[in-house]
Amino acid sequence: MKQYETVIGLEVHLQLNTKTKIFCGCSTEFGKNPNSQTCPICLGLPGTLPVLNKKVLEYAMKIGLALNCEINSLVKFDRKNYYYPDLPKAYQISQYDFPIAHTGYLNVKTGNEIKKIGITRAHMEEDAGKLIHDPKIKSSLVDYNRTGTPLVEIVSEPDMRSAQEAYNYLTTLKLCLQYLDVSDCDMEKGSLRCDANVSIREKGQTELGTKTELKNLNSFKAVKSSLEFEVARQIKLVESGERIIQETRLWDEHKQITVSMRSKEEAHDYRYFPEPDLVPFMVEKEEVEKTKKNLPESPSKKQNRFIANYELSDYDANVLVQDKEIADFFEECTKKYNSPKKVCNWVTGALKQELNTRKIDLLKAKLSSDDLIALIDKVETGVLSNLAGKDVLKIKFDTGKTIDQIINDHGFAQVSDDETLEKVIKEVIDENPSIIEQIKSGKESAVGFLVGQSMKKTQGKANPKKIGEMIKRRILND
Ligand SMILES: [Zn+2]
Repeated sequence: MKQYETVIGLEVHLQLNTKTKIFCGCSTEFGKNPNSQTCPICLGLPGTLPVLNKKVLEYAMKIGLALNCEINSLVKFDRKNYYYPDLPKAYQISQYDFPIAHTGYLNVKTGNEIKKIGITRAHMEEDAGKLIHDPKIKSSLVDYNRTGTPLVEIVSEPDMRSAQEAYNYLTTLKLCLQYLDVSDCDMEKGSLRCDANVSIREKGQTELGTKTELKNLNSFKAVKSSLEFEVARQIKLVESGERIIQETRLWDEHKQITVSMRSKEEAHDYRYFPEPDLVPFMVEKEEVEKTKKNLPESPSKKQNRFIANYELSDYDANVLVQDKEIADFFEECTKKYNSPKKVCNWVTGALKQELNTRKIDLLKAKLSSDDLIALIDKVETGVLSNLAGKDVLKIKFDTGKTIDQIINDHGFAQVSDDETLEKVIKEVIDENPSIIEQIKSGKESAVGFLVGQSMKKTQGKANPKKIGEMIKRRILND
């Protein structure tokens, strides 16, 4: 059988989180009543003039620079002409021959290697509206609230060689964009949308095979599954002597297959031409330099700094930076409690677990850095066992009470006073004479059983380390 190589390029549409639209002052707030956030400009009524939102230019520049791109000094917009009911002007304002950013790259981890995936371009454009197909009234409705929402489209080079690589590129890109704070990057809300170009060729061949385009992939899983399916479909076609047609395909989530949407012959001819209502202008070099200097720390830089400053392992640092809020929270705690590894264990362990089970992010949790430090301190000084510490954290999430309050209200404090512990140990020893014999004859591991029994008698409140030592001392010194 012949060996095939997969070639994948991705186009990502990112919705920017500006308060107002790209060419008018309408709000971009999500979930409002249909058509309540529109005006003559975003509805494309005759005689209206668009004005570029400065924030959009600033954000697009940030994105370009974070992706190691060159920034075009000329800002020019073009009309992309096509007719669709959710596009009232019958053209979309986009950028054609002078995108704001071009020729960059993103470092993506694939296996144990870091691979440079080329970024062809990133450009600004406006979003279209939304059609709602309602079977009850056998009609389609249109909501123009989204019309004119600012987007940046990020186009990669066809540098990815597997569905997994495309998946890794997308997750790395999303994290990088989240750190820039220019979008909520929420795929479910449609803030991050992805199209994929995929083709196969025989190994060693340099020219590209015929590609198909997968449109509107709306989850990371859809990206991976649809690409895996499409690659297998193309290989099967070629193997059976058939031809791959250049076409646009859709991912059928339900059937887990790709289906043809339109072929190249039906493809749009966009007839791009310069947007006459927006005058091209130059971006000052200083402006670009200033934006570059003020870029927030990237996830990979943060990871390296965490390893260097806090002596964390590569693994720990990587887990922390996967969520900017978590990474910032970790640092805030570390400033107040100088034991990074212990803080990291709590943040990446018990804390993340609570957030995951509750499906909330840190900002929604009732937990401050002072709270977590108070909790860690209680465990480290032996007031709480590790296990009780986790229970206290759970209750903290449920109630928002202070750590001290929870420990008092629920009687969580460890029993450490010798008198109480001696009493418990005496009972356990009296009840288990055969175990005592085993320990005396050298089987020290049997102590664990007695510790367990003691923990049971104190409802888990005894200090297990202390009790183990006391038992040993008692039996072996007798
Ligand atoms: Zn408007």
